[in-house]
Amino acid sequence: MTATGLYDLAVIGGGINGAGIARDAAGRGLRVALIEQDDLASGTSSASTKLIHGGLRYLEHFEFRLVREALIEREVLLNLAPHIIWPLRFVLPHVRGMRPRAMLRLGLLLYDHLGGRKILPGTRTVALDNDPAGAVLKPEFRHAFEYSDCWADDARLVVLNVRDAADRGATVLTRTKVVGARPDPECWRIELVGAGEARGEIRAKALVNATGPWTSAFFGMVQGVKPSGRIRLVKGSHIVVDRLFDHDRAYIFQNADRRICFAIPYESDFTLIGTTDEDFHGAPGPVAITAEETSYLLAAANSYFAKAVTPEQIRWSFAGLRPLSDDGQSTAAEATRDYVLTLDEPLEGRAVLSVMGGKITTYRRLAEEAMDRLAGALAGMSGRWTASVPLPGGDFRFADRESLVASLLERYPFLGASEAQRLFRCYGTRASRILGGASSASDLGKRFGASLCERELRYLVDHEWARTADDILWRRTKLGLRMTPEECEAVAAAVADYVASRVGNHAEAATP
Ligand code: FAD
Repeated sequence: MTATGLYDLAVIGGGINGAGIARDAAGRGLRVALIEQDDLASGTSSASTKLIHGGLRYLEHFEFRLVREALIEREVLLNLAPHIIWPLRFVLPHVRGMRPRAMLRLGLLLYDHLGGRKILPGTRTVALDNDPAGAVLKPEFRHAFEYSDCWADDARLVVLNVRDAADRGATVLTRTKVVGARPDPECWRIELVGAGEARGEIRAKALVNATGPWTSAFFGMVQGVKPSGRIRLVKGSHIVVDRLFDHDRAYIFQNADRRICFAIPYESDFTLIGTTDEDFHGAPGPVAITAEETSYLLAAANSYFAKAVTPEQIRWSFAGLRPLSDDGQSTAAEATRDYVLTLDEPLEGRAVLSVMGGKITTYRRLAEEAMDRLAGALAGMSGRWTASVPLPGGDFRFADRESLVASLLERYPFLGASEAQRLFRCYGTRASRILGGASSASDLGKRFGASLCERELRYLVDHEWARTADDILWRRTKLGLRMTPEECEAVAAAVADYVASRVGNHAEAATP
């Protein structure tokens, strides 16, 4: 094992919540270890709808505090990572027999004013007869509202938080499972199993359980701690289809069951449709969309789009488990999206903090609160800092994004406009770290298809903990959408070769 010694904090779980807490803690001067059993963001945090949003529909459940906090957080996060987060306008058609127009108007008025917008424009009404957003909808939809939220690359948000934590000194162990934790009078002793069943132990003064859907299972491994809350797992699935419309706005559709579904422009050439909400009672792990969920999503889209969306148009699907704090609500859709943090202390001074619930949107606030709660156990740490320090590659103003893409293209003209844009949207100002001194396309090394080149692959292995083709093609980039199975196989072989050649040569490339 490469991680030894005594840490201030061990964070278990490399989803958005663990990543955010590890970054926050490292920036407060603590010695941090982040441990993830698989790839970063391989759990729920790469399977979300990818919205940084207040959650318009939570107003119906009177969750004003949650909505307000999340609305405020939209612009905070937009400023921290304007390469991977950007504003998105949502078109909400009015439907006769569903929520009345006055109710939608009132909800959106609240939505506009609860969260103190500075950058995002407010709500407007849309006459669908005269607007491109109406052109692809059935003619019976004539009125709509249009409002703002933000979109985020969820998996990259995780990786960038971890990158920043590591830049601030955190030790990051991926593909390493925590199999036990016991408190002794000095510290926590945390048992790890890494690649090839290699066993090890690290010690830490405090422990964070950010294992998302695995939270209950994790409680079973921690000696001396009884779970003080319950997790409810709610499955949600999405489909990705060929692009359904030419404008850059998203749709929010009301379904007959009172749920809502989004149709969102995705990766330039596609539309993302989701999501479902179904209680899940199995063991946490990889989940996939079912035939019923696919039919539900297609039916939702087909209630609104004039041209039928068919199963043949589906290019990809993904599913995830929402680890919700169980508030006893009857339906999965109604269960709160708010988070609960619990602090246990099986021996004096041996704190374990558990995260239950939450949203991508609120991860930074959650991390701040988690660190505040741990202040008693970790004396001497500094205060809150994450609200104004950009994530890696995000050190620019959103308004400058297009001019920075143009500068990248000017410096590397052989990229072409769409590739310059893709690289900037993934890596922001760090794109030039990948491209370095390249002066022609051939300087980027071997090409694998869909514009993935050897330099990018190596960057992802060396600096972003990628170890497999899936890590690269479906989480850190979405280039898998554009590759043939043969090209994906070539990427798998190249990553395996490169990782093998790096073990022992590079601390971050080595498997613990
Ligand atoms: P995870 O991302 O699951 O991370 C937990 C990690 O812990 C996993 O990577 C797992 O491998 C690791 N782990 C578990 N056990 C161990 C162990 N023993 N040792 C080491 N590692 C371990 N939120 C929004 O804000 N906007 C949205 O649009 C949105 N849409 C959503 C749509 C769907 C369908 C779903 C399912 C969720 C959505 N969410 C959204 C919610 C959001 O995605 C989740 O709240 C968030 O991703 C949970 O993050 P997490 O870190 O708690 O869990």
